[in-house]
Amino acid sequence: MLKLIEELCTGCGMCEDICSFGAITMDDGLPVIGDECTLCGACVDECPVSALEIEKLRHEKEDLSQFKGVWVFAENRRGILSPVVNELLNSARGLAKDTGARVSAVLLCEKAEKMVEELWEHGADDIYLLEDKELVNCSDVTIARIISDLAKDKKPEIFIAGASSMGRSMMPRLAARLKTGLTADCTSLSIGVDDNHLYQTRPAFGGNIMATIICPDSRPQMATVRPRVMQKAKRVAGRKGELHTIEKKSIWFNSGINFVSFLESEMEKARVGEVDIVISGGRGMGSPDNFELLYELADLLGGAVGASRGAVDDGWITYPHQVGQTGCTVAPKVYIACGISGAVQHLVGMQGSETIIAINCDEHAPIFNIADIGIVGNCMEIIPLLINQLK
Ligand code: FAD
Repeated sequence: MLKLIEELCTGCGMCEDICSFGAITMDDGLPVIGDECTLCGACVDECPVSALEIEKLRHEKEDLSQFKGVWVFAENRRGILSPVVNELLNSARGLAKDTGARVSAVLLCEKAEKMVEELWEHGADDIYLLEDKELVNCSDVTIARIISDLAKDKKPEIFIAGASSMGRSMMPRLAARLKTGLTADCTSLSIGVDDNHLYQTRPAFGGNIMATIICPDSRPQMATVRPRVMQKAKRVAGRKGELHTIEKKSIWFNSGINFVSFLESEMEKARVGEVDIVISGGRGMGSPDNFELLYELADLLGGAVGASRGAVDDGWITYPHQVGQTGCTVAPKVYIACGISGAVQHLVGMQGSETIIAINCDEHAPIFNIADIGIVGNCMEIIPLLINQLK
């Protein structure tokens, strides 16, 4: 926090003038610091008598050697694990290999049913399980409380969750409770060769740079991971680990938040991240009306419609359909790019697709460099042919 050393202050008012956030006002000859202060430090640098300083929050240095293991949040809904959990387990296994640690999954649900086997077979060595009917539609506050108590007791070195709606709201609460850092929306994780820290990489400044972040002084090292950027863990049938049950505390459930109803968001309705076939349109589709062709093709193939940012920016389709660096990442079995040039920001969101088919009238379009099948031609002629053939 910004602190005034009253004995040094001469009341010159320079700090009030320099503050671009209007956070400092002079009152009775002394600066008063308001809530708008962003700790930018401009006033500290400018004060001629060094009467302002930024006081760092001090906390005891922890003995980091007592923290062990890589933990994964086994997010689930109605008895089904979220697909990102397999990706997290695969990533966790890679991190654990480098540190010689065990991989644990935290599973909080109404009924575990097949989820326990699924977690073991995808790489969990240990599962911390709480099964309780109160966990149906429970809030992120409750989940953060449960995991925080567990983590304080078991001391994991690393804890990762999907960057889903739940992960994005629960993990900051958890990090605050555990007094540690959190890197949101990571696209890659690795262990530092020299220092054994978790290197957490994520796009920053609208995707213009990649930032790699470490958390050197506190544990666990926490990150949320973007769905579909990491490979899924391979299933090893019959693999088993250890099951540890968590004892319920009623205090966890008094969150002050009541579940009213579940509404599917536009993002979920777009379904681009979930389906096996994605048909995406770009500016080459020419108009929003031509997107109807893509919906017809998607219906016939049981797929969903995606889009380039070009098409979204032109208002032809809504943002939840956007694929790419600032949209969603997809990795379907088949990705059909229709009238999309293949800018690098689009490619990063779909290059993990198993088979890429591109339709573009420009034979030199960059999309053809990564396409498995390239069709040089006009989308408005080729897509109707495909539709007729499928019908
Ligand atoms: P264009 O580049 O205009 O390409 C249209 C293509 O259609 C051309 O190749 C043309 O030959 C072809 N074409 C024209 N008519 C026809 C026809 N009748 N039949 C067949 N082909 C035809 N983009 C994304 O997609 N996703 C992102 O998440 C994203 N994030 C970004 C983040 C940043 C920080 C920045 C700077 C840019 C980002 N972009 C993103 C934008 C990206 O750089 C491109 O501008 C965008 O992908 C272009 O969209 P497009 O391919 O539809 O349009």
